[in-house]
Amino acid sequence: MRIQRAGDSYYNKRLTDCKLYVRKNLTVVKATEWYYVLVGENSYLPISSLILPEDGAVLLKEAENLKEKVELITSITDCTGGHRNIYLRMERSNQTEEGVPLLLITLFDIKDMETRNMEVEGLLMKYRHFMSINSDFVNEYYFEYTLEDNQFVLYKYVNDRSLPICFGSLEEFVAKMDAEHKPTEEQQEQMKVFCNYLKSGSSAFEMEFPMLYQGKKSSCRVKGGRLYKNKNFIAGIFLPNHMADNEAYYLSPAARDAGTGLFNKRAVTEYTMERLSSSTATHWFMIMDIDDFKNINDTFGHLFGDEVIRKVAEILQLNVGYRGVVGRFGGDEFFVLLEKIPDRLALKNMLKTIMKEMAYAFDPQLKVTASIGITQYPVDGTSYEELFEKADKALYIAKEKGKDRHIIYDEKMHGALQKDDMKTMTMAYAVSRERRREALIDILGNLYEQGVEYVTENPKIQKLIRDMYDLDGVAIYTDYGKTLVCRNGDYSKPAVDLSKYMKDEKWVALYELYDNKDTYVETTIAKLKMYHTEYHQEMQGQELGATIQCLGRKEGEPYALVSFDVFNRNRKWSDTDVEMLSLIGNCISKLLCKN
Ligand code: GH3
Ligand code: MG
Repeated sequence: MRIQRAGDSYYNKRLTDCKLYVRKNLTVVKATEWYYVLVGENSYLPISSLILPEDGAVLLKEAENLKEKVELITSITDCTGGHRNIYLRMERSNQTEEGVPLLLITLFDIKDMETRNMEVEGLLMKYRHFMSINSDFVNEYYFEYTLEDNQFVLYKYVNDRSLPICFGSLEEFVAKMDAEHKPTEEQQEQMKVFCNYLKSGSSAFEMEFPMLYQGKKSSCRVKGGRLYKNKNFIAGIFLPNHMADNEAYYLSPAARDAGTGLFNKRAVTEYTMERLSSSTATHWFMIMDIDDFKNINDTFGHLFGDEVIRKVAEILQLNVGYRGVVGRFGGDEFFVLLEKIPDRLALKNMLKTIMKEMAYAFDPQLKVTASIGITQYPVDGTSYEELFEKADKALYIAKEKGKDRHIIYDEKMHGALQKDDMKTMTMAYAVSRERRREALIDILGNLYEQGVEYVTENPKIQKLIRDMYDLDGVAIYTDYGKTLVCRNGDYSKPAVDLSKYMKDEKWVALYELYDNKDTYVETTIAKLKMYHTEYHQEMQGQELGATIQCLGRKEGEPYALVSFDVFNRNRKWSDTDVEMLSLIGNCISKLLCKN
């Protein structure tokens, strides 16, 4: 391929239906008009000489003895001498020239494929929107049937997307109707007629279903037929002649949350319960709560807070798409039922996308993060209540561990759910936040009053810091890295003489890792390797997994270092962890430099 620049081609017209019949030597016998427009006077040349030379050679060789078809992506020279990047397909054809079969080559402009894709998507969205609006006024259902695999789907349009009501073989649909509506003999007969229309691939049909509705005779009109361009596909509408007031709540306009247009709590709960009872496929329950949303409100105002909620709702809706249903539980809490996520890997990929989209949705100064708790049906439970409570528990664990993460519930790891668990956990979470803040103020106050020894000579305080922030070790160095002042934790190896690194000029490279407050935050030490190989090896030897390090300087030279360490695991530090630990670490390292 070549880099294609605007203005390279003399026209912006589409490259639609660009087909050419060629001989084995790739000279053109006949082509659609677009080909002549594209290559102009060069149409007498074999196409192999108009595309990139190496691709031309491949094409010529393949044409010699073409088995089925070949496809390649290349660049073609157009009539202006400019280039277009194209997808080219060559296959055998039924056309002949004096009894000799010709080859068919089809060209697609790659840029054009993208434009068309976007247009088709736009069209789809537009029609879904129309359908949704219509569904709000008319009580209609849509159905689809594929002859090939006998799949029948009945759905409604809600929130610009289809919401399946029934999904399975035609026989399963009939059985469901039999079970739910106790049809009369006449209705059963009508159902058979309907099935026959579908199974015979009828091009167009219209019929009336007699039905009883709230004790009164009523009916449902059904219109449908084969798609003009896909004979294997039948689609149509069910139009009940009565307004459905016993229809599921989630299908009514009242079921939407006013701020975001998502399902409200009652709607998403009822929908989820219904789905759990009608399908045994894997479902994921996901509860998401925005982190420190009160801060966002307090800092930027409630109106902006509302904007954040709308944006988060949109990100969820777009990324979950047809794979599930998103609801807002009120406040900054969302619920998602995921129905078409086959495994953990797919789940994690989706979550990663959502988290990144959120983090970059606003000004980089404002990184919106969320905590997520997840359970899996039927692994973690079969009832809505059980799955919900466990997901909620997982969400609290995610908050407790420092937010900005998801936790997939695992009974072995998180323990079985006790009756009053949630109440205690919510309390514990609020208390622990407060407690950590108080303890931090205490430590800083004592450091100020009693000097650095308050921490360096006080293993109890060192242990307290470890416990508060879930650290495996704390190590403090001074004297240009030569002296280990203290160390608390499960260190497996003797301490390293850091002076050989801190005095080494390579340390200069390591400075890049430290921010302007001389703090270095590391989730995984892999990055160190690029900056300082030996130092990385030494840290690896210490089994270091993640770290927050605060550097103190004497006359500009690195002199003291406080290292908050985690062994053999990566650690995603929350903003609060970083903020609080760097306060403690910087205070200690600065004090050591003064000594
Ligand atoms: P945490 O990380 O622990 O979740 O902290 P948080 O600050 O997000 O706390 P929490 O989830 O408990 O609080 C959510 C806050 O969201 C409470 C309320 O003031 C605010 N809130 C609820 N609904 C709305 C809303 O519709 N718009 C705005 N702007 N704020 C809302
Ligand atoms: Mg919150």
